[in-house]
Amino acid sequence: MSVYSKLYEGKAKILYTTDEPEILLADFKDDATAFNAQKRGNILGKGLINCSISSKLFQQLEVHGIKTHYIDNPAPHQMRVIALRILPLEVVIRNIAAGSLCQQTGLPVGTVLKQPLVEFYYKNDQLGDPLLTSDRLYLLELATPEQVDTITHLAIEINDFLRGFFQRCSITLVDFKLEFGLDSQQQLILADEISPDTCRLWDSDAISDPDSRVLDKDRFRKDLGNVEHAYQEVLQRVLKAVESNK
Ligand code: 5GP
Repeated sequence: MSVYSKLYEGKAKILYTTDEPEILLADFKDDATAFNAQKRGNILGKGLINCSISSKLFQQLEVHGIKTHYIDNPAPHQMRVIALRILPLEVVIRNIAAGSLCQQTGLPVGTVLKQPLVEFYYKNDQLGDPLLTSDRLYLLELATPEQVDTITHLAIEINDFLRGFFQRCSITLVDFKLEFGLDSQQQLILADEISPDTCRLWDSDAISDPDSRVLDKDRFRKDLGNVEHAYQEVLQRVLKAVESNK
């Protein structure tokens, strides 16, 4: 496979075209950003770790019948993916209150939600990715009602699967962000990545300690230290769970 040109550089990945028009190459970077890129840094080995975790999770989801953009890994920090038209939506699924939900509602951190909460945010850095109402989502024509319905069902199914998977890793899936795209047949496909950059993951064995339980990007956001170690720990547990499932 020959790589052609850089198509897009995001905060965590670079996308390249390939000699096959329906296939792109995603190169995962070690760069870390938070608070809409106001905080910047570098997490050693993050690109490789996030690419490996995402690849394993996408493979598991495919086995479970969820279509993802994952194809294969030409290198440990690279993923070949299906070229999609990405919808400008960040789909956040929450099982436990944390982050912006607590800031915006006053719910105490750690409140277990009676049922998963699925939220849509406008993926727009200039506007700071604002939370959408469904009226605003349709006003901006970000997706059709059918697409929103399909995404909501997929998000709940993905959450059910990932919660169970992470439970086997002794990890509590607090919340996470998904992105979806449309293929050439207008089929909705799970895209982007699922990693400690995009999920809140709490160590189930340290669940009552608010600092040591954190195995995700909140370690970077809140300067909790041992960021690389936490990401590496998630990868090792994911690999072990995949192995023991064979
Ligand atoms: P919150 O809305 O609490 O900031 O984030 C909820 C969840 O979605 C967290 O797991 C967070 O990591 C993820 N998330 C929300 N927006 C983004 C984003 O723009 N980039 C990344 N990497 N994750 C996000």
